Amino acid sequence: MATLRTGNEYLRAIKADGRRVFLNAEQVPDVTTHPAFREAARSIAALYDIAADPANRERMTFASPATGEPVLRCYQIPKTPADLAKKRAFYEAWAERTFGLMGRTPDHVAGFFTGYAAKPSVIARGGKQYAENLLRFFEHIRENHQYLSYVIVPPQIDRSKPAHKQSDPALYAGVVKERDDGIVLAGAQQLGTAAVFSDWLQVSCITPLQPGDEAYAINVALPINTPGLKLYSRRAFALQATNSFDYPLSGRFDESDALAVLENVFVPWEHVFVYRNIEVCRAQWWETPAHIYGNHQAQARYATKLRFMLGLAQRLNEMTGNAANPAVMVQMGELAALAQTVESMLRAHEVLATVDDEGVLWPSRATLYAVMALQSETFPRMVDLIREMAGGSLIVQPSSVADFENPEMARDIERYMHSPQASARSRMALMRLAWDFIGSEFGARHQQYEKFYGGASFLVKQNMYRNYDFKRAAGLVDAALSLPPYER
Ligand SMILES: Cc1cc2nc3c(=O)[nH]c(=O)nc-3n(C[C@H](O)[C@H](O)[C@H](O)COP(=O)(O)OP(=O)(O)OC[C@H]3O[C@@H](n4cnc5c(N)ncnc54)[C@H](O)[C@@H]3O)c2cc1C
Repeated sequence: MATLRTGNEYLRAIKADGRRVFLNAEQVPDVTTHPAFREAARSIAALYDIAADPANRERMTFASPATGEPVLRCYQIPKTPADLAKKRAFYEAWAERTFGLMGRTPDHVAGFFTGYAAKPSVIARGGKQYAENLLRFFEHIRENHQYLSYVIVPPQIDRSKPAHKQSDPALYAGVVKERDDGIVLAGAQQLGTAAVFSDWLQVSCITPLQPGDEAYAINVALPINTPGLKLYSRRAFALQATNSFDYPLSGRFDESDALAVLENVFVPWEHVFVYRNIEVCRAQWWETPAHIYGNHQAQARYATKLRFMLGLAQRLNEMTGNAANPAVMVQMGELAALAQTVESMLRAHEVLATVDDEGVLWPSRATLYAVMALQSETFPRMVDLIREMAGGSLIVQPSSVADFENPEMARDIERYMHSPQASARSRMALMRLAWDFIGSEFGARHQQYEKFYGGASFLVKQNMYRNYDFKRAAGLVDAALSLPPYER
């Protein structure tokens, strides 16, 4: 009988398992104990504990179609709007645990594979064995509560040339050899958010490929400790978190991002789902609900983060005594309007969803891309509104919580940095939370994340263009032009 994975089981599974993670000129021996990764790994473990808690059974699980045992709801193929609403509730429960600050939790790439599994006929266009591989693998990850991350964009080496015309054909991740038992991959792919914490890495390509790029038209899954796979982590913000008071978020939720380097990595056929097929490589994103299922999760996470942001702004204004100032209320109104739009659009995925002839539910594409297309402009605007309302109070703070240990400093800090509502220490706790959210290196990375996690905004706007009902809109204009003349 399959039992749900607990946080401890997850940590044990990823502990010193041979995964090759590189940081600060060294290989990291164990991500569950290294100070750059330990706390984030625990934050992810907490998600597994939430899902495994019998009190959360209905919200976090559904009955496995294979065994009837509870498995994570993120792997459920929705058939009705009510199913989608339940999936949203699952995503929100996890997102609330991280305040929406971890984007690639185990439910994100789960959405993509659920989307492929909902429409295996698309994958089968490349050969029916690939659809069989996909369905078997999907069952494996669902039944074993596995955590996938992904790298589906080539590294930004030279965007002016297609993959096969780069200075070396093995720069972008692609096939370099075919064997009887599988394929060999070489090259690099970006941007493996949370890859260092996952069980598997999906390697594929979402950017358009051209004839000649067949070697890069793949979709495969690699165990994260596959020989030859290396993860080059960016700067670890958690290491700059000198203590949990001064950096309440950086230390706990730095999900890390990494470049995946594949050094002659062998992939057995059973883990190959798209092979040297440009048409299927494209279709897997747009002709299955993979992209919308994965990004439905991303929107539930984003809406949660914005709710946290609104709460933070409200507390900041209360602390500075500005909450009742009419001008501040107008700024808060703008902030709330932007957050509420995302929240309401999340519900619209359910209301405007359609069910196809195979009984698979498609959340509203136009709804998803409308929010994502504007996210790269609205999120910076929201951050800017908070900066404006906060004034200097994010800056005029003790140099660290240690300042309170010096009696002379503590006296002055208490006198000049308190608020009528709170001691200087409580005020500082809130200000550090706000700074870590918008101003620290961790906070700044989040602005880059919200701009690019779903692709560059020009691409998302193209998605929006493809999914808006221009026919109905233009029909109105035609109707206006066909109105009968009126008499003067
Ligand atoms: C923090 C973060 C985490 C991420 N996590 C992941 C992850 O886990 N897995 C994953 O696979 N990906 C992830 N991504 C997304 C991804 O890897 C890319 O960064 C993203 O898709 C944008 O592609 P790019 O970086 O190649 O930018 P490009 O496509 O090179 O675009 C960069 C900029 O160039 C300009 N530009 C280029 N071409 C055009 C054009 N035709 N028209 C107009 N303007 C143009 C635009 O200003 C654009 O914003 C993440 C990104 C970030 C920032």
